[in-house]
Amino acid sequence: MKAVVFTLGCKVNDVESGSLIAGLEAMGYEVSRELGPADIVVVNTCAVTAEAERKSRQLVGRAAKLAKGGKVIVCGCASQKCADAFFEKADNVYLVTGAQQKGEILEAVKGGLTEKKIAIKEAQKGVYEDMPLPKCLKTRNFVKIQDGCNRFCSYCIIPYLRGRSRSRDLDDIVKEVERSTAQETVLTGIDVSAYRDEKGRDFCDLLRALGSIDARIRIGSMEVSLITDEFLAAAKGMKNFAPHFHLSLQSGSDKVLKTMNRHYTRAEYLSACQKIYATFPNASITTDIIVGFPTEDEADFEDSVRMVEEAGFAQIHAFPYSPREGTNAYKKYKELPSALKKARVEKILAVGKAQKEKYLKALLDKTLEMIPERFDGTYTDGYSDNYVRLYLPKSVGKEPLTVRAVALFEDGLLVERI
Ligand code: SF4
Repeated sequence: MKAVVFTLGCKVNDVESGSLIAGLEAMGYEVSRELGPADIVVVNTCAVTAEAERKSRQLVGRAAKLAKGGKVIVCGCASQKCADAFFEKADNVYLVTGAQQKGEILEAVKGGLTEKKIAIKEAQKGVYEDMPLPKCLKTRNFVKIQDGCNRFCSYCIIPYLRGRSRSRDLDDIVKEVERSTAQETVLTGIDVSAYRDEKGRDFCDLLRALGSIDARIRIGSMEVSLITDEFLAAAKGMKNFAPHFHLSLQSGSDKVLKTMNRHYTRAEYLSACQKIYATFPNASITTDIIVGFPTEDEADFEDSVRMVEEAGFAQIHAFPYSPREGTNAYKKYKELPSALKKARVEKILAVGKAQKEKYLKALLDKTLEMIPERFDGTYTDGYSDNYVRLYLPKSVGKEPLTVRAVALFEDGLLVERI
């Protein structure tokens, strides 16, 4: 029996697809992540932007054709948002579920998928849905620790699709990290900063519980509210914490942050950055920035541009504001012209590129810990603990090693072994 599990969107979607694959393999299916002919085809969709939702619809149509008669199951945030649109996409769409209770897809497959139906569920308040453990990836393994979000940033549709924040049991997370054979584990979720399990254990408790793990521990995306003295002390106390902080900014303007319903000021964000650099001098801070938010005027935009240098970002990701029906911003504000948004994205990315170069130059001649990933015949690439891509001009196997940065190279640094 053949199955396909195709994934769009974020790392959390990817981990959930990994669980579906593990569940289908346990049922005897041979599972691929690429579209093609199969008995069962699962498409795990995304709706973070209008473009992602459009792509999800397109993908389901293509998957249904390529399945050659196989039964198609659609799940994820886009189908949570508009199930009917996916149900009507093709005759062989048999089941449309949403972003919740994805584990029930395995029950439906076991039941033979005899009838066509839509089964959209709402998350049970505070109840984290356990799924089969995904297969462990070789170098970098993503472990889901939390789902949902309570923040309701005014531009974001996710809380309406993934429900309220709920956290996985701390002991289950530790067990999964301990059994992992990967050199690095990334703790991921929709809002990991809100982590608190049913026994009241929070993110600092989790870091302390992972403190003696040999593998490198990295945190996915985080919010400013997480950057407390207790958190930094817990991270500093770990055996192998990766000092890379993907600290979501979204805007450098206090006025825009307020209208985004994001609860910090640019001064508080910068102070969090200073605390991080004081605790981890080699740390990298990367971020996401939305430009062209409806309330953003030229001065606000310049506030975001200046923040790129002031925060010393190692990398920025900048996106034009994408209006999402159902969000407060969509109801309240008129969109800015696309050409203006596009120009602002280009400008801030150029500033981000120059800032990244400055960050990399400061690492020259420094010693870094590298986890090798691939050898392409000339170079072995891999990442440093502060999430810089490194290139070593020889084949060195998979064991972590210590290197010195000798030059800027490609999107990272050329290194030599020491
Ligand atoms: S923190 Fe804000 S941007 Fe992130 S998922 Fe929650 S509402 Fe969306």
